[in-house]
Amino acid sequence: MQIQILKDEVVSQIAAGEVIERPASVVKELIENAIDANASVITVKILGAGKELIEVADDGNGIPFEELSLSVTRHATSKLSTAADLFSIHSLGFRGEALASIASVSQFEMISRHYQTDVAGRIMVDGGKTIALEKTGSSKGTVVRVRNLFYNVPARLKFLKTDSTERQRISNLVARFAMAYPFIRFQLFNENSPIFQTSGNGDHREILAQLYGPEIAKKMLVVKLEEESFKLNGYISPIAITRSNRREITFFVNGRWVQDASLSAALTKAYHTLIMVGRYPMSVLFLDIPFNQVDVNVHPTKAEVRFNHPDQIFSLVQRGVRRALLAYSSVPEVSHSVWSSNSQEEDSNQEFLWRSAVWTQDQGQNQASDSEVDGNIAQPQAGNPEAKDRSDTITFPLLRLVGQIGAAYLVAEGPDGLYLIDQHAAHERVLFEKMMSQLNKEIPSQSLLSPEVIHLPPNHIQIVEENLPVLRKLGFVIENFGPNSFQIRAIPQLLIGMDPISAVNVLVDDFEDDESPLQGKIEEKIAARVCKRAAVKAGQLLTKEEQSALLANLENCHSPRTCPHGRPTMIHLSVGLLEKQFGRKGSL
Ligand code: ADP
Ligand code: MG
Repeated sequence: MQIQILKDEVVSQIAAGEVIERPASVVKELIENAIDANASVITVKILGAGKELIEVADDGNGIPFEELSLSVTRHATSKLSTAADLFSIHSLGFRGEALASIASVSQFEMISRHYQTDVAGRIMVDGGKTIALEKTGSSKGTVVRVRNLFYNVPARLKFLKTDSTERQRISNLVARFAMAYPFIRFQLFNENSPIFQTSGNGDHREILAQLYGPEIAKKMLVVKLEEESFKLNGYISPIAITRSNRREITFFVNGRWVQDASLSAALTKAYHTLIMVGRYPMSVLFLDIPFNQVDVNVHPTKAEVRFNHPDQIFSLVQRGVRRALLAYSSVPEVSHSVWSSNSQEEDSNQEFLWRSAVWTQDQGQNQASDSEVDGNIAQPQAGNPEAKDRSDTITFPLLRLVGQIGAAYLVAEGPDGLYLIDQHAAHERVLFEKMMSQLNKEIPSQSLLSPEVIHLPPNHIQIVEENLPVLRKLGFVIENFGPNSFQIRAIPQLLIGMDPISAVNVLVDDFEDDESPLQGKIEEKIAARVCKRAAVKAGQLLTKEEQSALLANLENCHSPRTCPHGRPTMIHLSVGLLEKQFGRKGSL
């Protein structure tokens, strides 16, 4: 083939490929345009997860009729004129390619009225070709409708994730923009029903509540640190609330949502030693930096930036976050972890002793692994919740209860030494095995005297909805109850006494992780989570009867040595080890 200049159509499609990856990218670009146009209300509507329709309406400055057709032309922008401007960009847009890109891969319609004129204009573009341009009537502002996105690039369509994931990305995006622009009123409609709405009154907590649910929103810590011309503001999760991935780490730089690995590293560093390895914090943090000190022209999606003084910025983030964590370190919800954190940080000798104890005991078992799980002591099968190795059934002897210590552990004596049993992990195991054994039949559920209503943020609604059948199977009776709410009518009999709302909340916590967990496994997973929440906690005093019952139930378990998440339920100090520690070895 000869070298030839690509047709405009092809060029735009290639360019579009860089900017518009999925429905959420369209929403992002259109919201950015509305913000740049000084909108005070932005309404987003989607049909078919954004593939059928994305409509973004604003009450901003609008586009003069004469400029309408230019606005959908590539490299046409009102936000930048000289190359020098590139190094001091105040607006979110500047590349002049979003509208052209979107219009080249969809059926595009835009109606806009400039604030200084009475007449509006309407332009329609189909797969990059303008098919209509006319004057019309409309209120001030702009409405963009994007229909049948990627209809002419089927490869892109195939590449999209499930509808629920794409929808979730959109609602996450709108919610985060709402956080960054709390004085703009945002509304999001999915299939014509409202799923997210802010008042535009500047109240961050109110938006956080929609983003994470009211419980977490209340607990988010405020970050505020100013140094020279750099400012850091926003919210971070306390150490008691963590996620299993980095997806809830959000940074805005000068009002622009950025994905920056080093910013998120700076944040996680600040949590170092305060949260477990493999767990991540949540954040919505805003950095304000002089415009000429950050280069935003790094990537077509404008989601990456380069700082002139990166080290200074990262250190600001790290110190700002650490300071907030320390200032709030005495909040009540973290105090229950005192036991576990003490044993890790201060009693390192002790830990060594435990570890050698476990090791001694493991020697007899071929499957022993001495890897560490989140800084805890290793046990056989650690980290493998599914493992149902029967060998440990045999090695678990009948125990004589001695008592409870630290309101957290049971002490018991066996023929071969001393056992310390973590009451929480043990109870978790007991509940989990009971629930899983009932699963073969019908798990008995118990109606609540007064059904409880739970309100959830939009991205969590989807998760609950999709898992309703599994929950039903596990003994939960949950029904839709108006927008963003469910009514819990019954819970499994086994969990009577547990707060029903927190039972449902554990389902959604972290659940976004698994895009499509294997059916079958999913029941186990949900059961394990619910049991973790339902189990007695460290800090709870148990009566003698409760202690013996727990011990007896644990003895009946198939895998008594680990909790359903793979952590040890017990530590064994063998007679041999005790003798050695007391210097008696060999003297007998
Ligand atoms: P950019 O935002 O990089 O300038 P776009 O392709 O997104 O490029 O938009 C092209 C131009 O169209 C913008 O520069 C702006 O002048 C105009 N425009 C787009 N959307 C709107 C809107 N919602 N309100 C007012 N003007 C808009
Ligand atoms: Mg733009």
